[in-house]
Amino acid sequence: MSEAVQTSDIIVVGAGAAGLAAAMGLAQAGWQVTLIGKPDLAATARTVALLDGSLRLFENLGVLERLRPDFAALETMRIVDDTGSLFRSPPVDFRAGEIGLDVFGENIENRLLVTHLADAARATPGLTFIEGKVVHATPGEALACVTLEDGARYGARLLVAADGRKSLLRKAAGIATRDWSYPQVALTVLLAHDRPHRDVSTEFHTRQGPFTLVPLPGKDGAPHRSSLVWMMDPLEASRRQRLDDVTLAQEIERQSHHLHGRVRLEGPRGAFPMSGLGAMRLAAHRIALVGDAAHGFPPIGAQGLNLGLRDVAHLVDCLTPGQDPGQDESLARYEAARQGDIRLRIFGVDLLNRSLLSGLMPVDALRGFGLMALAAIRPLRKLVMRAGVMPRGSVPSLMRAQGANRL
Ligand SMILES: Cc1cc2nc3c(=O)[nH]c(=O)nc-3n(C[C@H](O)[C@H](O)[C@H](O)COP(=O)(O)OP(=O)(O)OC[C@H]3O[C@@H](n4cnc5c(N)ncnc54)[C@H](O)[C@@H]3O)c2cc1C
Repeated sequence: MSEAVQTSDIIVVGAGAAGLAAAMGLAQAGWQVTLIGKPDLAATARTVALLDGSLRLFENLGVLERLRPDFAALETMRIVDDTGSLFRSPPVDFRAGEIGLDVFGENIENRLLVTHLADAARATPGLTFIEGKVVHATPGEALACVTLEDGARYGARLLVAADGRKSLLRKAAGIATRDWSYPQVALTVLLAHDRPHRDVSTEFHTRQGPFTLVPLPGKDGAPHRSSLVWMMDPLEASRRQRLDDVTLAQEIERQSHHLHGRVRLEGPRGAFPMSGLGAMRLAAHRIALVGDAAHGFPPIGAQGLNLGLRDVAHLVDCLTPGQDPGQDESLARYEAARQGDIRLRIFGVDLLNRSLLSGLMPVDALRGFGLMALAAIRPLRKLVMRAGVMPRGSVPSLMRAQGANRL
């Protein structure tokens, strides 16, 4: 080992929400952790709905109270079939109370989530936070290393790749991916509106993809606010991106059937081309993937980051204190714990999205009858709600209710 390499037990690369949570969870489990990444704090008009398990993870990491002032509760998820199909179902409401929860989760602006997590990470004992960028990663038999822009080198027995979709660490580990794209762009914007959202998130299913309004907390001068994720054809997206705020607001009002009354745009707009990604393996050569480095799919049903945080919680459980954190047995346990959940979410989101785009009558019929069955059959609805919030199987320690944690 070169003297110039600074070592710790584990290096986490990427200071997005998954990397920050991983670094804190691993440090709290007793590992010496180095986190490398620059938190992205720019306003991107993007929010994340954190579901029940993710809220418990943040509670167990001791950061929930920091986040709470910026949360808006999600008590009901409503699906409205707006495809114009012959087999259109009436709106379906999923209420948290039906599965014994007060709320499904809480919605928060992505940049505020990352800001609070980064502040908490800086104050976490056992965690060294280096706000830099990794330009090179080398897997190794005994030690894996990374090199930063300034030439500094760091080594650890385990590298955690939380460096997003285009993960440099994933490539360094030689892990192949399956990649695909959709003929859609998601436009995002934060909105102030006249009528209250009443803690209801409403997903209109259109022929070009979902149009989803998610509650946000009110603020001075804007008591009623929501975020919008509007998936559409790329040509429509570029046309709408060129519209002035007033005209775009009018199109939003029309598309939402005036659900919230008059709307006003707040701040910048975001545009995200839609694609999917699945890593063929979750770990190799002392590198483990978490979050968007391991999987990616369109923002439907609030699954992406929630899935990534489950990666984090399971990874923490799979490493045995006092042993080599990058040993093959631990990484094989991690792979086994996560593959089923990840495949199910990628498959489910892909199926729903393609069924909207298809327009074929048999596909419309299946989707319509599926929604009607969900509206009418309570046990089926409860099953789907539970699966959406937390998969079956063992709940990782960091996602257990306090008191039940680390039994
Ligand atoms: C419009 C939209 C709405 C969404 N809504 C939801 C939702 O409601 N609920 C939900 O659960 N999910 C949602 N998602 C998905 C969710 O936002 C992502 O799954 C989540 O942000 C992924 O977090 P991450 O930390 O894994 O990756 P990222 O957020 O991509 O973070 C990766 C980090 O790694 C850093 N990085 C990259 N390369 C390097 C390097 N070489 N060195 C150092 N750092 C590096 C990047 O700068 C970045 O900070 C949504 C996504 C979109 C696009």
